[in-house]
Amino acid sequence: MSVLVVGSLALDTIETPFGSASETVGGSATYISLAASYFVSPIRIVGVVGGDFPRSAMQLLEERGVDMEGLQVVEDGRTFRWSGRYHYDLNQRDTLSTDLNVFQAFDPTVPETYRRSRIVCLGNIDPVLQLRVLDQMESPRIVVCDTMNYWIEGKNAELRETLKHITVLILNDSEARLLSREPNLIKAAKVIRGMGPSVLIIKKGEHGALLLTESMVFSAPAYPMENIFDPTGAGDAFAGGFLGWLARTEDMSEENLKRAVIYGSALASFCVEKFGIEGLRDLTYLHIQDRFREFRELSRFDED
Ligand code: AMP
Repeated sequence: MSVLVVGSLALDTIETPFGSASETVGGSATYISLAASYFVSPIRIVGVVGGDFPRSAMQLLEERGVDMEGLQVVEDGRTFRWSGRYHYDLNQRDTLSTDLNVFQAFDPTVPETYRRSRIVCLGNIDPVLQLRVLDQMESPRIVVCDTMNYWIEGKNAELRETLKHITVLILNDSEARLLSREPNLIKAAKVIRGMGPSVLIIKKGEHGALLLTESMVFSAPAYPMENIFDPTGAGDAFAGGFLGWLARTEDMSEENLKRAVIYGSALASFCVEKFGIEGLRDLTYLHIQDRFREFRELSRFDED
């Protein structure tokens, strides 16, 4: 299945307890596309960058089979910038600044050749832009959406409108509580599924992820990692691995959704092992499958 990804392409400034990086390439669309590129090709990207976005990053995306026709380059504009600091508990992150820059005036245009893409992934950007992209598509089969507290708080009504058109919503636990105003995650999932998405994934940082549908709750383990350098992009890498697997297999059964969650978790685990996008540069499909199998062993046990 063909995949369209819309989201941010960014220059991130990150501080973790293990190091820091200034103006390193990031952004939701960048992480999602790189992660998904190990499963399916081409990935079509819709987004915007300024003239200061490194050519080498565009080259890397192209080499990974990402179609850049839908990427607008505003030569005299500044790329979106985000800055964040992680605590010793890496599940805790403070956003220090968000500079929308070229995203402020961004009007996404989906190229004619992209409009029949079967899977659309709405990466974390303004929900108004997410909906504008969706309006230009010709009946996609699956719409995956990611968002964050910035939009849940700042554009709640607009986000609720977008959610009416979503198949799979991916959130972390605190975002799920914020959106539903319900502390219990199982109850929160019911509330959120009532807003539109039939499938909900709640990520719990280094504690795994929950997959919830009308008839099932599946709990995916987290990969026990000794070396986590930078959690930035883990959520997006998860989304990329998840939808990459669905695109490759064209199967939305509950059993296959579970596999997709494990592939998402595998890509997130590779992502956090290195700084920025480094962890997603040089993987192979075999490498990913090995980690998938390790996940299976993590929570397998016999009845007697
Ligand atoms: P994650 O760690 O998966 O939540 O994603 C981090 C990425 O999201 C970073 O590379 C940021 O550039 C990007 N990001 C952070 N805030 C926003 C925002 N408000 N809109 C779009 N992208 C964002």
